[in-house]
Amino acid sequence: YDTQLPIPEKPQEVKDLTNEFNQLLSQLNHQAIRDRQFVSDASHELRTPITAIRGHVQFIQRHGKEHPEIIDKSVGFIDSESKRMQKLIESLLRLSRMDNAKVKREKVDVKTVMSAIIETYQESISQKLILTGVSELSVLVNQDNLEQMLIALLNNASKYSDKSSTITFNLTEHTIEVIDEGMGIPDADKSEIFERFYRVDKARTQKIPGTGLGLAIVKKLADLNQIKIKVEDNKPRGTKFILIFK
Ligand code: ADP
Repeated sequence: YDTQLPIPEKPQEVKDLTNEFNQLLSQLNHQAIRDRQFVSDASHELRTPITAIRGHVQFIQRHGKEHPEIIDKSVGFIDSESKRMQKLIESLLRLSRMDNAKVKREKVDVKTVMSAIIETYQESISQKLILTGVSELSVLVNQDNLEQMLIALLNNASKYSDKSSTITFNLTEHTIEVIDEGMGIPDADKSEIFERFYRVDKARTQKIPGTGLGLAIVKKLADLNQIKIKVEDNKPRGTKFILIFK
């Protein structure tokens, strides 16, 4: 005597739905793990400057009266660490505001934008900035977003290169390339650099200030504007970031 009810063969539709549901569940799980990691990384990044600031405050409290000469240096540290925190928080806010943002895209003449950026930044950047490539490029993008991306890429190109080198904006039919002659990015790191807080070899970049959020913001802006972004080696040295429209 068989007590089991006969289980009907699942119709294909039910199978498909089950698969889809399982896939969704696993995606949600991954997202939850990433979110948790992000909160933990952000807390860690914020704790570091706070610890340093509190250390210097205590140092001044303990020794400031007897050795007033230490005050200037400690106040300098407090100032720079609190500025770092401010930058970090601004970047975090910018990232979270973009989470469900919608952008208005319009036709933008890239050459005009690039020339304005070069004119504004050549003063404050020691590398030589040049614009090469096709003479006309018009793209569908939010202009503010495009400028933010280019300025972030330009800042990085400048930070990670020798002062006497050249940074090139090269325009092709469907791309904008930001090319530097700096320290380059090892192949193993290329897929990681757009992750929040990722910095190549902390020891290498330790002396160069940064939060590890710049490229995460660039990537998010690119996604919002349906632009692809790629990173390649520049020959013989340096890095090439490519924004691909189309
Ligand atoms: P950061 O604030 O550290 O500059 P980013 O998110 O802008 O953060 O970049 C992530 C990491 O990618 C940097 O820490 C650096 O190691 C590497 N990187 C970015 N741009 C360049 C570049 N042009 N040349 C070499 N390394 C770069």
